[in-house]
Amino acid sequence: MKLLEDRIREDGRVLGENILKVDSFLTHQVDFALMKEIGQVFADKFRQAGITKVVTIEASGIAPALYVAEALKVPMIFAKKAKNITMTEGILTAEVYSFTKQVTSTVSIAAKFLDKEDKVLVIDDFLANGQAAKGLVEIIGQAGASVEAIGIVIEKSFQDGRQILLDAGQTVVSLARIEKFENGQVVFAQADA
Ligand code: 5GP
Repeated sequence: MKLLEDRIREDGRVLGENILKVDSFLTHQVDFALMKEIGQVFADKFRQAGITKVVTIEASGIAPALYVAEALKVPMIFAKKAKNITMTEGILTAEVYSFTKQVTSTVSIAAKFLDKEDKVLVIDDFLANGQAAKGLVEIIGQAGASVEAIGIVIEKSFQDGRQILLDAGQTVVSLARIEKFENGQVVFAQADA
């Protein structure tokens, strides 16, 4: 997605060896016009797939996922990272190791929001080592629902995430694929959309 790659080149900042900071348009301040385009691109790709739910993980997946859900006209569900006393009914959970925070947390979705008829499109802001997406796939599996594909806004292709998800039989569609960081600049690989 050229618009996204241009924006990453312009406003993204490379931190250390393997982190990209995009807090001016995706992970902190959010550019709704860009999110809307992202929503359209994913929706165009999956319009015929019979998607019934979009699932993401809080917090930074929520913005793109909501626009994908709007474009597909289906509900968006975000997995919660913290225990919540209002979640009293059945909950589905998975353990997820966070790449950026370097802690393992239990993520959860209320069982009532997913059932075995659901065809889910998973959306997340970044794909690094695939742990967040893997946790979501596990939760969706617990509900007996199926995962149609995993849609990623920014994939760091030099990390293991894509291969881990492909090995697990998943389809991965990334709008920007980063091959490497070179002298603080982003070098892109061919994206999926
Ligand atoms: P994974 O579970 O694939 O290892 O990491 C994905 C999660 O880690 C994403 O949901 C995102 O929040 C965070 N993440 C991974 N790499 C980066 C990065 O380079 N920059 C930012 N801002 N977040 C990242």
